[in-house]
Amino acid sequence: MEHKRPVGRGSVIQRDDLPLDEAELESLPGEVALGAVEESLQLVVATRDAREREPGPLPDVVVVDLGHRRAEAPLELRLDRKKLLPLALERTVLREVELERQDSDVPAAHTRTIVTFRSGIWMPIALLVAAAWGLAAWALYRTSVPGGLGLPGIPESRYWTESDLDRASDFQLFLTVDYLLATLAVLVTLFLLALWAPGFARNTGLGAVGGGIIVGLVTLVAVWAVDVPFRLAEQWWYRRHHLSEDSYLAWLFAPWAELASASVLALFLVAVTMALARWIGRFWWMAGAPVFIGVSVFAAFVFPYLDPYPQRSLVAEPGITERIPEIEERSGAGPTEINVSRVSDSTSLVNAYTAGMGPSERVVLWDTFLDGRFSDDEVVLVLAHELGHVAKSHIWKSLGWFGLFAFPMTLAVAELTRRRGGMGQPGNVPLAALLLVVIGFALAPAQNAVSRNYEEEADWVALETTGDSAAARELFAEFVRADLEDPTPSFWQKQLFATHPSAVERIAMADTWEERRP
Ligand SMILES: [Zn+2]
Repeated sequence: MEHKRPVGRGSVIQRDDLPLDEAELESLPGEVALGAVEESLQLVVATRDAREREPGPLPDVVVVDLGHRRAEAPLELRLDRKKLLPLALERTVLREVELERQDSDVPAAHTRTIVTFRSGIWMPIALLVAAAWGLAAWALYRTSVPGGLGLPGIPESRYWTESDLDRASDFQLFLTVDYLLATLAVLVTLFLLALWAPGFARNTGLGAVGGGIIVGLVTLVAVWAVDVPFRLAEQWWYRRHHLSEDSYLAWLFAPWAELASASVLALFLVAVTMALARWIGRFWWMAGAPVFIGVSVFAAFVFPYLDPYPQRSLVAEPGITERIPEIEERSGAGPTEINVSRVSDSTSLVNAYTAGMGPSERVVLWDTFLDGRFSDDEVVLVLAHELGHVAKSHIWKSLGWFGLFAFPMTLAVAELTRRRGGMGQPGNVPLAALLLVVIGFALAPAQNAVSRNYEEEADWVALETTGDSAAARELFAEFVRADLEDPTPSFWQKQLFATHPSAVERIAMADTWEERRP
């Protein structure tokens, strides 16, 4: 159900937005000459608009419903189809792509690309790839929710008091500002590391890959450390609103298993990327993308085992347990492992999520749902929503999105680091991280749009499964009080953070479902 991810901070790869300053970039050493220009038969200069944020279909990669964690899925990479697909096509079609320079215009930084045509025969192939890509994206995006529902407006005063609304909106505003400042700090850190790393890497005395791992480790620790004050501020804010009981230290280190595994995975990927780049050269990304995809499948598989809170099976919950076989069947999920995670010592927030695949697949309900604030009907609706994620294979679909973007993403990193020697150079590791953060920030709105689409489908399945629109309205209204979720987020808050439809939209959907019922 997980409706609350005000700040999805904490991963090594953060979403972010950084105007790359031209002067700063050009002060970096080691640029390779633009050889392609001289050889070109025909020169095309295409100006692309870079950081334009618009919603569009894009993926939350590894897990559905991750918001409760401070750290995100280890391999959460956000990619923008609009921006990266053209790059991929030019690369295939035109044989040569050179990034001439980065412009530093903040809202619309431009990447100017010089491309050379060498052959026309790639055009049909590129069109075919683009068509297949579009078809796959369409297939992944469509859901079983009937089209054209035209959700009605709902009177907020019927569900919440003025003070409920103010409290939720103040709460989220602080988290938004904290997140943006943290992101800025991480970007500045990565930028400085990108300047520092090439010189450092030359003097490590280790091999290239070994040097890359050291630089990667320094990068991980620096980013984590820079983020700490902002995470502490966030924790202070949660405690102030009585949403967290954890001490600051316990809270900071609680997700250690997730943090440690994400770090090991990140360093592993640094090593693999560097080895491939040194072995294959410029086209390492063609082999690198499948490795990234494989690792993200692996991460999705092991994620459920990294829960920092103890889990137990959901048994002996009178009023709930006996209804589970029916909702498992009606939702289409079939028999599913359902666990309860004991978070109530740490927080009063409520959450539930679906994670894993095959033997690790499970629905996890936070035990705060069972503390008496929610009726049995509401808890059953939460479970039906999660079973909807299972029934509609949302984790596999998320991995499908990752697969669609892995190639253009690795291509972008390969090309954008090429002028400084490419990913075979250990000194380029922080630059690659910086690029991923910037790309991730640009793609967040699209990724969130995909996530909202799947959440909407899970809500729809829950309504069809339980037939209980009254419980749905009460549940979604209660989230605003329990988790201080803003029922009417601003446009930008929605783009940057909203992995779920707002409470207003979810209640409207329950109304609509009820009206359409035969
Ligand atoms: Zn959900």
